[in-house]
Amino acid sequence: MAKQNILVPDIGDYSDVPVIEVLVKVGDVVQKEQPLLVLESDKATMEVPADAAGTITSIAVKLGDKVSKGSVIAEIEASAGTTPASAPAPAAPKPATPATAPAAIASAPKAGQYNGKVDHECETLVLGAGPGGYSAAFRSADLGMNTVLIERYATLGGVCLNVGCIPSKALLHTAAVMDEVKTMAKHGITFGAPKIEIDQLRGYKESVIAKLTGGLAGMAKARKVKVVRGLGKFLDANHVEVELTNGSGQDLTGQKEVVRFQKAIIAAGSQPVKLPFLPEDPRIVDSTGALLLKSIPKRMLVIGGGIIGLEMATVYSTLGSRIDIAEMMDGLMAGADRDLEKVWEKFNAGRFENIMLKTRAAKAEVKPDGIQVTFEGENAPAQPQTYDLVLVAVGRTPNGKKIAADKAGVQVDERGFIPVDKQMRTNVPNIFAIGDLVGQPMLAHKAVHEGHVAAEAAAGEKSYFDAKQIPSVAYTDPEVAWAGLTEEQCKTQGIAYEKGLFPWAASGRAIANGRDEGFTKLIFDAKTHRIIGGGIVGTHAGDLIGEVCLAIEMGADAVDIGKTIHPHPTLGESVGLAAEAAHGHCTDLPPVKKK
Ligand code: FAD
Repeated sequence: MAKQNILVPDIGDYSDVPVIEVLVKVGDVVQKEQPLLVLESDKATMEVPADAAGTITSIAVKLGDKVSKGSVIAEIEASAGTTPASAPAPAAPKPATPATAPAAIASAPKAGQYNGKVDHECETLVLGAGPGGYSAAFRSADLGMNTVLIERYATLGGVCLNVGCIPSKALLHTAAVMDEVKTMAKHGITFGAPKIEIDQLRGYKESVIAKLTGGLAGMAKARKVKVVRGLGKFLDANHVEVELTNGSGQDLTGQKEVVRFQKAIIAAGSQPVKLPFLPEDPRIVDSTGALLLKSIPKRMLVIGGGIIGLEMATVYSTLGSRIDIAEMMDGLMAGADRDLEKVWEKFNAGRFENIMLKTRAAKAEVKPDGIQVTFEGENAPAQPQTYDLVLVAVGRTPNGKKIAADKAGVQVDERGFIPVDKQMRTNVPNIFAIGDLVGQPMLAHKAVHEGHVAAEAAAGEKSYFDAKQIPSVAYTDPEVAWAGLTEEQCKTQGIAYEKGLFPWAASGRAIANGRDEGFTKLIFDAKTHRIIGGGIVGTHAGDLIGEVCLAIEMGADAVDIGKTIHPHPTLGESVGLAAEAAHGHCTDLPPVKKK
């Protein structure tokens, strides 16, 4: 079998164009027209395809090399039956904003590929319509790509809108108002005890979800994104089969449709982790079950002291449940600095019956009067405890193994995560992956930004996911929010840092609100003096952390932040004051002792 060099074809007016990606390695078997390299000029990115099918025997270029027409890229041993050809035409450079999609979309199936009936053809297929998926699909359509979005459920929005961020915040808002009203007595204003109409509360939560998911459906339509309702699985690297579903869940209709695509973005998300020793019983639920708000249990156990568990515990305790929390680790809210979490813990000391750290639920038995749970660990109660509701909130697991990714050649690790590069590209060049199923942190805002990058990269734009920070927020009472590096991370990574801390006990607004237990902390690199992290605990901390996120991304230092005039009296002012504290100029705090 003949060996031949693969050369850079005629790439128009461009020369000395840097190689930004090498998509193959020695030993790879490639198809004719399969992209081998990605080049990036100052105006466009372009893929260089193979001009013959065969096995790559050597690669002559590496990342960062500059190539021009005729440069040797690789050597290929052509498969039997293929005729060596002269250099092929490169894939057309993608302009920053592609023109309207052409009528004929996907190329004809290649040897060994699915060759049956095709119901939909598209340039970009997005699998899963959570925050990552719908954002990717909408961005793809805005870039002029003909886009198909596959979702198994009736509404778009995924976990976040339907059974996650949004319904939990609707209920947390209700709880916050109920809690705040109670504090008015010391202002001389008293209200009667709350009367809870649980069906109406559930209805309010559902209406919030419906408003948002309805809005998404409208936006998909306005962008001409074709939504296919069903369970999608890969047939190969250019086809997905969809088992159509209907009803409010995932009822299969028995019908199937096939979508042929040029590029795919996998956004199939995650699902709650199950504890294998727990029996099946309607009184043992995950976060989705807890958000259904079927009733208000008298006694409830929350297994897992992470953000989701604590948010649900906050809601149910305000509604009147007596709550125990069991957490295996030695602290709650993993990932947050301990000083932030301690403020939350002190404020909530009376809210929960029993917070059992270093303790795990070891056994559960279904009894007529409840779920009887036996605990093990440092703070385990001596006797088993009986609960009306047990919420399991011990983490989420990615859906990477449920979409037949192997049929497309996409690598999935043993836990179900799909490895990607900075453009969100998987090991298969035309397939991208985003959101919960590419890794931690499993958060909606991360998924959205990754979705935009994937759609832009799929359209040939120079997009990379290179966030300096991804914020986390526990929407508890008080809220706990952090972004960038925590003090604990600085210590373990050996990063020398300085900090500025502004206690809310010195904030006029926090005192006026009757909520001055919190603080704002900023962390600066001791060498560059640029901000590298920050944390806030207090009411509305989740809204306030956005300024810290922006400061980190912009590489601000304490002077930039401190000299920015913040409105007075606000909680947001505390960010500026913490920066002033960092360089010792805060006139709202006692004078710094001279050394
Ligand atoms: P998902 O939202 O999981 O969406 C994936 C979609 O793909 C789903 O709609 C699913 O039905 C669909 N799908 C999967 N497989 C297939 C298939 N084979 N065929 C067709 N469709 C398929 N994050 C925050 O940032 N802030 C919060 O306040 C917050 N609160 C949360 C509260 C709770 C109770 C929970 C559970 C999560 C919360 N999260 C929060 C996390 C957030 O919901 C997720 O990080 C986010 O939804 C992930 O988005 P995604 O697009 O990756 O996937």
